[in-house]
Amino acid sequence: MLKWIDIIKYANNGAPAPDRRVEKTEEEWKALLTPEQFRITRLKGTERAHSSELCSLFEPGKYACVCCGTLLFDGSEKFESGTGWPSFTQPVKENAVAYHKDTTYGMVRIEALCNTCDAHLGHVFEDGPKPSGLRYCMNAVSLEKVESNEQKLTFGGGCFWCTEAVFTLLKGVAKVESGYSGGKIDNPTYREVCSGMTGHAEVIEVTYNPAEISYKDLLRIHLSTHNPTTLNRQGADVGTQYRSVIFYRSEQEKEDAQAVIDELQEAYGDPIITELAPYEQFYKAEEYHQDYYANNAEAGYCQAVIDPKLKKFKALFRDKMKTETI
Ligand SMILES: [Zn+2]
Repeated sequence: MLKWIDIIKYANNGAPAPDRRVEKTEEEWKALLTPEQFRITRLKGTERAHSSELCSLFEPGKYACVCCGTLLFDGSEKFESGTGWPSFTQPVKENAVAYHKDTTYGMVRIEALCNTCDAHLGHVFEDGPKPSGLRYCMNAVSLEKVESNEQKLTFGGGCFWCTEAVFTLLKGVAKVESGYSGGKIDNPTYREVCSGMTGHAEVIEVTYNPAEISYKDLLRIHLSTHNPTTLNRQGADVGTQYRSVIFYRSEQEKEDAQAVIDELQEAYGDPIITELAPYEQFYKAEEYHQDYYANNAEAGYCQAVIDPKLKKFKALFRDKMKTETI
């Protein structure tokens, strides 16, 4: 999650490189955009406050750059700022937005631009809601709402550092977050979950596009990359928080999950004891647990436990991996 200190850093040294670049001449942009879109995105204009209905639109969905179509914001990060401009607390990805120090009008502000095509979006301020504390004050004209058919899947298979490392590599997976599900208290901490007293399992929540990877395939990979036959245990990790569990969001998902379990039962000598439970709530874990493997590849646990898991996963599911991760 980006905080104000990151924004300052990116404004000074540049944001992380975008996934792609789109560059066009002024004439080409003019041909593509309406005069108002051109004025705001290419000439750094500002729309009138309260001029768009997008300000009070809070339904799920994503917002893309009106110039190049790159996804910039998720509706879940949108909030009512009362300013008259659509406001977000966080971009979809750390490299989606670029930042420039803007000293026009006798103020020092941080300008937000599309990192892919340099479209002017608006400004970022440090008076947004917690936890990021950021307020991306955007011109509605710079944004375009896109329909999203993304789905979420929540499951546990032992330590979430391991499961997250595996699922991040899959094609069609937009986001993986580590957290806790299936327990008795709200907003548990890692410490509380580790005590085994709260009943939560360490889980990951996978955001995926069913057109690219199916629910059943995700579960096949899940059941093939941890041991679903050991009750409340994965290797040396013992406790109910390490249980093998799938949280279904519909009766159809429950049926499909059972079908995948039946299908894979043959491959295991011992009975698969994976629990099927109705999804209730996902609590995102503390920030240092996110991307744990990517950030701590040299740590002993990663080398001893996660590396062999990844090796097995890559051998089995290479064809389902994002090209850049192979
Ligand atoms: Zn753009």
